[in-house]
Amino acid sequence: MIEVKNLVKKYGTHLAVDHLDFQLEPGRIYGFLGPNGAGKSTTMNIMTGYLGATEGEVVIDGHDILKEPEEAKKHIGYLPELPPLYMDMTVQEYLEFAAELKEIPRKERENAVGQVMEITKLKDVEYRLIRNLSKGYRQRVGLAQAILGFPDIIILDEPTVGLDPKQIIEIRELIRDMAKEHTVILSSHILAEVREVCDYIMIISRGKLVASDTPDNLEHLMAGQNSLEIETKAEPEEVRRILRGITGIEKLELKRTAEHTTYAKIEMGTAASEGEQDIRESIFLAFAEAGCPLLMLKTSKASLEEVFMELTQGEEAAADAGDL
Ligand code: ADP
Ligand code: MG
Repeated sequence: MIEVKNLVKKYGTHLAVDHLDFQLEPGRIYGFLGPNGAGKSTTMNIMTGYLGATEGEVVIDGHDILKEPEEAKKHIGYLPELPPLYMDMTVQEYLEFAAELKEIPRKERENAVGQVMEITKLKDVEYRLIRNLSKGYRQRVGLAQAILGFPDIIILDEPTVGLDPKQIIEIRELIRDMAKEHTVILSSHILAEVREVCDYIMIISRGKLVASDTPDNLEHLMAGQNSLEIETKAEPEEVRRILRGITGIEKLELKRTAEHTTYAKIEMGTAASEGEQDIRESIFLAFAEAGCPLLMLKTSKASLEEVFMELTQGEEAAADAGDL
């Protein structure tokens, strides 16, 4: 288990991590989601013991990363934003070297290196110099180094940046595979990516945790913006009249889609969506009573994309300005 308590990081006067508090349970895939400059890399660098915090604590399986870095680091594999690869080493030499640094006993090293090369599909470039590898292969070398020795916790900073779509799919599969036995934390500024691979998403904006939940629950978080779509055999004016009998409608958009057929988008207020009666029943009955058949009725949840936009609005502009 990982506990992050009241974590603060200041670069000069710039507050990059602003009182972060969270706990991570074993065996899940967590996603740090946030635009560039949100503080994801800084947080990961502190969690892995590569950077000191201004305030707060990080406790990894009971070990304080600042007070017992050696012990805590044994539980972590880390792929930093810029993996420290040695260009003049071959893949095999580099991973042997990484195994030595991780204090994997000499007689187990060859085996351990072979195993991670197998998993990350590096066998065919084993004897190539890292300088001659493509970006995708270099990323795999970084990943192989992170999972070497199979630490309980694997932390990956933007693991798919710079990869082509095929490589991205492979790395995602690899991450899902690893999560069967490890806790994985990855960062990304791409919403689709965290939604696809993570069980749990933490949205970071300007160094603050602004939301943390499962992808499904984050979508429900926007319950106040529940909306419905219907299509009915009626004229727009009739639809408007029928819907007047329903309480809680905040916004209504009508569009005639064919002769005597209307499409309506109905946005409900928060109170209405929290009420006990399913709004779809009321709508169905109201149209039935008026003798207008419903051709279509569906609820549309606010997408996580919208949650993200809402929660991190203006972030990028502010972060960019901060960089100057
Ligand atoms: P992310 O990984 O989410 O893109 P970072 O953690 O890299 O964000 O950066 C968070 C903020 O801290 C940014 O505004 C960035 O410019 C600033 N920052 C990061 N590293 C340093 C540094 N070494 N010195 C000064 N400011 C930094
Ligand atoms: Mg970063």
